Amino acid sequence: MSVLNDVLAANASYAADFGDKGSLALPPARRFAILTCMDARLDPAKYAGLAEGDAHVIRNAGGRASDDAIRSLVISYKLLGTAEWFVVHHTDCGMEFFTNDVMSGLLSSSLETAALGADGFTDVGAGPGSDEGKYINWLTISDAEGSVVEDVLRIRNHPLVPSGIPIYGYIYDVRSGRLVEVPAAKEAGRAR
Ligand SMILES: [Zn+2]
Repeated sequence: MSVLNDVLAANASYAADFGDKGSLALPPARRFAILTCMDARLDPAKYAGLAEGDAHVIRNAGGRASDDAIRSLVISYKLLGTAEWFVVHHTDCGMEFFTNDVMSGLLSSSLETAALGADGFTDVGAGPGSDEGKYINWLTISDAEGSVVEDVLRIRNHPLVPSGIPIYGYIYDVRSGRLVEVPAAKEAGRAR
């Protein structure tokens, strides 16, 4: 229960000092959105200078342009007025360390947490697992820059995304905290 208690204690202290944030408007004040990875080392509020109410942050494993990420982006502009989007992947992403076949194999073997070693992930759990993993596209990454370009292009070419929204593609360096532009993504995401 210690994580639960820690989170509730942190929230009590946050709420005690909430100030005037209760009057923030629903649409993001700075009218932009960031699609990024769920990696625990990334804090978009810090690396992009966000305060409550500023921007939409959409996160998933890899920061990939999945159907669900696109669902959120479309809601973000169509209903809530964002006008610029960022796709931010990062160095040392866990999505580079497995493939669809590896993931479905690990899950078929057991549902316990796998071990990550020099040769990638190995299953160390007691079975049974499930074959359901074979039917999911895990959207793994084999080329960090290529995945940013692919996702920017998918969003750019989506029929529900207006051509006037610029989409910026960056890689966050987990060693330095810097956002590094992906030149081919810049070209792919240019507003038209
Ligand atoms: Zn990641």
